[in-house]
Amino acid sequence: MSVVKKYILSNSAVVAVADSKGILDKAAELHSLSLLSSVVLNRILTVGVFFGQDLKNGDDGLLITVSGEKFARAVVSVTRRGAVKGYIENTVLGFSKKDGDVKDGGQDATLDFSGKEGGGGGYRIEVESDVKATVGRNGFVETTKSIGGRLYSGRSELAEGDITSDFALYLAVSEQKNSYIALGEFVSGQKKSPTVRDGFADGGEVLAAGGCFLQFLPDAEGEFVRDVRGVFSRLSDFGRILYELKTPDAVMRTYFNNFTVEPLDEYEPRFYCGCSEERTRKIVALMGRKEAFDTLKERGAVEARCDFCGKTYVYGKKEIEKIFGK
Ligand SMILES: [Zn+2]
Repeated sequence: MSVVKKYILSNSAVVAVADSKGILDKAAELHSLSLLSSVVLNRILTVGVFFGQDLKNGDDGLLITVSGEKFARAVVSVTRRGAVKGYIENTVLGFSKKDGDVKDGGQDATLDFSGKEGGGGGYRIEVESDVKATVGRNGFVETTKSIGGRLYSGRSELAEGDITSDFALYLAVSEQKNSYIALGEFVSGQKKSPTVRDGFADGGEVLAAGGCFLQFLPDAEGEFVRDVRGVFSRLSDFGRILYELKTPDAVMRTYFNNFTVEPLDEYEPRFYCGCSEERTRKIVALMGRKEAFDTLKERGAVEARCDFCGKTYVYGKKEIEKIFGK
């Protein structure tokens, strides 16, 4: 399960805190993602949850694309508040193995996440530097928002390739919004069998994932803005913070204790794909009659796979004849 809690901060800002582990787990399962691929995708999904907070009408939507040189592309779509889906093109991004840690720990080795205590037969996962290394700095954040039938698009270059600062730059450059964002995961656990079925492909597990997104209200004063910046400078390891404090309320109590905090709203975002047999049939119809029947002849069926959730729809002879006529 995932949760977003929103608060008003000293009448000068709106803060949203997300626990998005449920979304991460679902994305990892649907797309058979490695641990690092799921971390990268989940950061963008969490941003999608934050950016899609105000989508309320049925046809409104938001599409976010992050393209970096290493994974090529990750795409996230939000259709209404809390309903988010996405995919990443490289599903097998792997963590680097660091010197000083045992590389072949065996099936039961414990991962040494801290990097301080003895290796104990694990290998270390460096989430931040590995996200940067696998996303790369050459690329773009792009968004298309559809609200009330009008399209709005935005674009900015990647800043660091860690997703967090990339979206901070996007907000400043493209939306000209004075806001702060923190994203992170806490990764640890047992080295599991190297199959996705039994755990993530490269061992370890995500114990916590989420983020914090603050938007200033128009009348926020300079001193308040400075104080908020001070808080966000301490939120960079957000995954560990959420893991230790467990709930958005506790994060607010601990890190925003110098402000007045009023609860505003709460909802449960989830990974949701609205694809269906019927919708996919329309896409198959766009293939054209000749190509559909050629594929049918060649492979015995026409398959259409949904990128967002990985579901495959199979259309046999009967269905194809129904779409195009005999
Ligand atoms: Zn789907």
